[in-house]
Amino acid sequence: MLDTNHPQSEHIFRASGFLDGLLKCSQRMSVVPSAVRADLLPKVLSRIDDMRALAAEHFTKSTAIAPALDELARVFTTLANLGDGNLVADATDGDEPCPACGGDVMKFDAMATIKGQAQQWIILCKNCTSEFSKPFRELESGDGFCTMFI
Ligand SMILES: [Zn+2]
Repeated sequence: MLDTNHPQSEHIFRASGFLDGLLKCSQRMSVVPSAVRADLLPKVLSRIDDMRALAAEHFTKSTAIAPALDELARVFTTLANLGDGNLVADATDGDEPCPACGGDVMKFDAMATIKGQAQQWIILCKNCTSEFSKPFRELESGDGFCTMFI
């Protein structure tokens, strides 16, 4: 558990918010048509630049963050450009196959095991988002933004 009085904690929480948003965006981007992906990509890259700035200011000792953010930007760009930008299908309801690879779209309620919580559907193509695991894991780690300790 993070010590909330520690001066570094606010930067770790900020990084955590960024990473959470980017994770949700990677899931969403894997099930929407190319036009929506093209709209999301510049926002994602701008958010990754925000994380570079946060790292340059407050996580100066980390050698893992810069390459992991480069990798994250690369896999987002790949995901955005799947199907040469011609994907028209939309699987955001989780009932259609993946617009890009045609595989099964995963749909589950993240709050299913927590009593009394409103449903929170997570919908993604596991196949198309598989490359995200490594950079996200590195960014969350103790060599990264340390958000895994929250
Ligand atoms: Zn897919």
